[in-house]
Order: sequence, then structure tokens, then C-alpha cells
Amino acid sequence: MGNPLWAPWRMEYILGPKDRGDCIFCGIPDAEEEEQRSRLVVAKTPRAFVMMNRYPFAAGHLLVVPHTHTSALHELSLAEHDALFRLVREAATRLQRAVKAEGLNVGLNLGAVAGAGVAAHLHVHIVPRWAGDTNFMPVLADTRVIPQALEATRDHLAGFFQDLPSDDGSLGS
Ligand SMILES: [Zn+2]
Repeated sequence: MGNPLWAPWRMEYILGPKDRGDCIFCGIPDAEEEEQRSRLVVAKTPRAFVMMNRYPFAAGHLLVVPHTHTSALHELSLAEHDALFRLVREAATRLQRAVKAEGLNVGLNLGAVAGAGVAAHLHVHIVPRWAGDTNFMPVLADTRVIPQALEATRDHLAGFFQDLPSDDGSLGS
């Protein structure tokens, strides 16, 4: 692929929160179901959740977010860390199936200098890739300007997370 994936100019889309109260992720786990849907949450476990990126690199660009507000991986407890990456694994598999992706980019931007739009609350990006998609912007042009398209995509994706294992590996949400 020729284009850089984590383009710093995209930071203008998201204002970095100054504290937990401003954090776009922190209120989500406790929000009402309808609110979660409108904020494009796809799935939730006791310690982490999956949501769509409202400003995606590609249709189906997901964020996997720990409930805990922290900017550093080592500040997650081992249980939180484990739950986060279990959910990354599940999300990667399910997203690939849901959008028939031929590949995925999975990664973290830790710190604003690394390109994190919301540096204070770490999150894992999962971006679906298809052969010939090197120019991202046209791919997502429609979904970015039409909120209904985002919600429809969210509903489609959520269907692939119905039988998500909980943090302890057993079935159920
Ligand atoms: Zn937060």
C-alpha cells in the first residue's frame, strides 16, 4: 500500500479531551442502549467495547476500547489488558467476515505524537482492507457525510457480534 495509514492531519477531526469528563469514550459503557447505538457501539463486554470510528479510514473502521480511562498499556490491569485484546481478536475475525475484508490493519497510536486523536484513552484501531483500496477517502466518502449510512453499517456489524464471548471466555454478553 502506498498511502500512510495513520495520517496526522486527521487529528483535526477529534479534539483531544482534557480530562476524563471530556472523554468521548468514558461515558459509553454506562450509556443507555439507544445512546450507545447512536454513538455507533457495536458490542460491549464487561471490560471493553467495540465502536465504529465516526471518521473512518474505510467503511467498517472499528475502535476497540477498554472501559478504563488510561493512555498507557501498562496502566491497564492484566485482566483489563487481556479482555481488551481478546475483544480485538474477536472483532478482527467478525469484522473480516462482516465486510468480506481481504486484510486488516490492527494497531494502536499511543500518544498524540504517534497520531492518537484521543490520546488520553487508548484504543485499538481495526481497519478492513481490500485489494486496490490504497486511496481510502473515496471509499468512505459516502459513509462519512451520511449519518444514516453509519448507523446502517453499525447495525450490520452488530449482527456479527451477537454471540460474543464475555471476558472470561464463556458465551453471553
Ligand atoms: Zn476515557
